[in-house]
Amino acid sequence: MAARGWRRAAAAAAGRPGGGGPGRGSASSAAPGPAPGPAAPAAAALYVHWPYCRKRCFYCNFNKYVVPAVDEAAVRACLVREARTLLRLGQVQRVTSVFFGGGTPSLASPRTIAAVLEAVAGAAHLPAAAEVTLEANPSSSSSPRLAGFRAAGVNRLSIGVQSLDDAELRLLGREHTAAEAREAVEVARRLFPGRTSLDLLFGLPGQSQSAWARGLEMALGLCDDHISLYQLTLERGTALAAQVLGGSLPTPPQDLLADMYHTACAILVAAGFRHYEVSNFARKGALSAHNLSYWRAEQYIGVGPGAHGRFVPWAEGGCSREARVQTLEPDAWMQEVQSRGHGTRRRVVLSPLEQLEEVLALGLRTDEGVTHERWGHFSPQLSLEAVFRAPGEARTLQQQGWLLLDSGGLRCTAEGLALLDSLLPGLLCQLQHAWALSHGSKAPEMSPTADRAGGEAA
Ligand code: SF4
Repeated sequence: MAARGWRRAAAAAAGRPGGGGPGRGSASSAAPGPAPGPAAPAAAALYVHWPYCRKRCFYCNFNKYVVPAVDEAAVRACLVREARTLLRLGQVQRVTSVFFGGGTPSLASPRTIAAVLEAVAGAAHLPAAAEVTLEANPSSSSSPRLAGFRAAGVNRLSIGVQSLDDAELRLLGREHTAAEAREAVEVARRLFPGRTSLDLLFGLPGQSQSAWARGLEMALGLCDDHISLYQLTLERGTALAAQVLGGSLPTPPQDLLADMYHTACAILVAAGFRHYEVSNFARKGALSAHNLSYWRAEQYIGVGPGAHGRFVPWAEGGCSREARVQTLEPDAWMQEVQSRGHGTRRRVVLSPLEQLEEVLALGLRTDEGVTHERWGHFSPQLSLEAVFRAPGEARTLQQQGWLLLDSGGLRCTAEGLALLDSLLPGLLCQLQHAWALSHGSKAPEMSPTADRAGGEAA
């Protein structure tokens, strides 16, 4: 429901985006491939996608559907069944976090949220303290509704505020006003104190640096302890992109976008927030456990139309980590879940090198970076030092002050984090080169791909 501009390199990873005790995850929960054995304890985060929205925002190209009526009982039954199936396929014993994203999951009834959580708790251990996040749109966040979600088991909210300016909200095609967004956040903070996050967008066509800074200051006066900032991306096929391409709205200049990002980082850090991921800021330890599990390359299961997952399907005889994507369109997805227990559309066994590429690309998004321990779990033979201490791009970036490699692992400096997209290609090349040298080959490994997943009992 938020803008996923910089978000979801992974997830997309889950359709997002998704949850789980990343901070609490053990090395074994990361489940690299090949994994140690079929009895390996399996922990995973769980992402649940609610695909429906009441209105299509002008910038949105997410997997969402605006339909006259939703057969919620049928969707609920399918979400429950697919969650059970995939948890069983992954032999998941502990679910570290749950994230309801969308779409607009705050349009689902608390009964549906409760049913999914009950199914998860019936299929695996769901600790009482596990983070359970729900994305909420201000236009479906009344106090009784949010209280219903809390009673259902949700303990963290992510509110899609996007802007506190009515003109900007109209430009974005949002359904709510600034006053409604304020009201939603205030209600949420009363019900979920310390566990309410705000999503904000910057880089809107025509938005000035001063307007953005003013908006951010207003958000600071309203927010709790977590803020996510996303640069608006003009996605092909959206109404907003058409207006910009047609010349009726200006294209935000790249240097202004960079200035907006740097300004926001400075303002939030000065206000006591930790810039713990490219787009995410937290204070008082209110980091998103669920999203950390993506960035730490832990296992996650994706449930619902278009959801993504990364896990080892032990129950199918698998021993390697797979990337899975569920069928996008809700009616087709429901038919598949009803007939075979899950709607997995695509499965790819990730090669060891592909897993390392994800570990690198996702880990470097965070201020903790890629630790030696995590890297060693995925790459017992080829160490971080062996790959990135050698002459090459990484050494140059270290000399330029954008990258650090020390006893904590490999990570970006604060300046490097802002440039991550441009740093990554060279680092990935260096990894591929080192991998080829250490494995006596010239080209990266390719992964086998299966177009269709097997049935529920596979
Ligand atoms: S609320 Fe708007 S931005 Fe969010 S998924 Fe729906 S259409 Fe997209």
